[in-house]
Amino acid sequence: MQATIGACKLELVTGDITRQATDAIVNAANSWLAGGGGVDGAIHRGGGPGIMEETQRRYPQGCPTGDAVVTGAGKLPARYVIHAVGPIWKDGQNQEESLLASAYRRSLEIAGAQQCASLAFPSLSTGAYAYPLQQAAHIALHTVAAYLRLHGQPQLVRFVLFDDRAYEAYADALTAVLSENRC
Ligand code: ADP
Repeated sequence: MQATIGACKLELVTGDITRQATDAIVNAANSWLAGGGGVDGAIHRGGGPGIMEETQRRYPQGCPTGDAVVTGAGKLPARYVIHAVGPIWKDGQNQEESLLASAYRRSLEIAGAQQCASLAFPSLSTGAYAYPLQQAAHIALHTVAAYLRLHGQPQLVRFVLFDDRAYEAYADALTAVLSENRC
């Protein structure tokens, strides 16, 4: 599924984030930048040890929840990895929504600062961090669409969903976000 927002393209695909040849890919990192399973494990496995060496050297304090940092992408086809820290879902009463939106926004800002024309996101926080998928999909797409409308870049934002269930949730959320904007 694909939508046009001004001069930008917002795209949903199923697949593996590590295979994306966009200028940058986003990692679902933790605040210690310590490596983990899911997206993070796949990125460090595919990219090689240089990515972890760089995060430890440049960001020894880690990265707060809702923020992001950038490194090279080692052996992966992308040029940069933007390590974004989404919130751990508790009950929705702990700023989860604003922290998730912030993780997407900060990733987009960093991609802009690195002159990236294209960026691929996974579904932040919906794996080990247990954010309810439908809610997370809506926040992700609402935040990215608003950013693209305001800033007109990056030219391409692709969400790379790992399975059909995530793809369907994002497709429904994109339809809703696009219709909210027609009102
Ligand atoms: P978090 O800790 O932020 O929840 P996870 O990496 O555990 O991050 O999961 C985030 C989402 O990414 C989940 O929906 C998971 O199914 C998906 N995912 C896992 N591996 C990959 C991959 N290689 N490419 C794209 N998405 C992936």
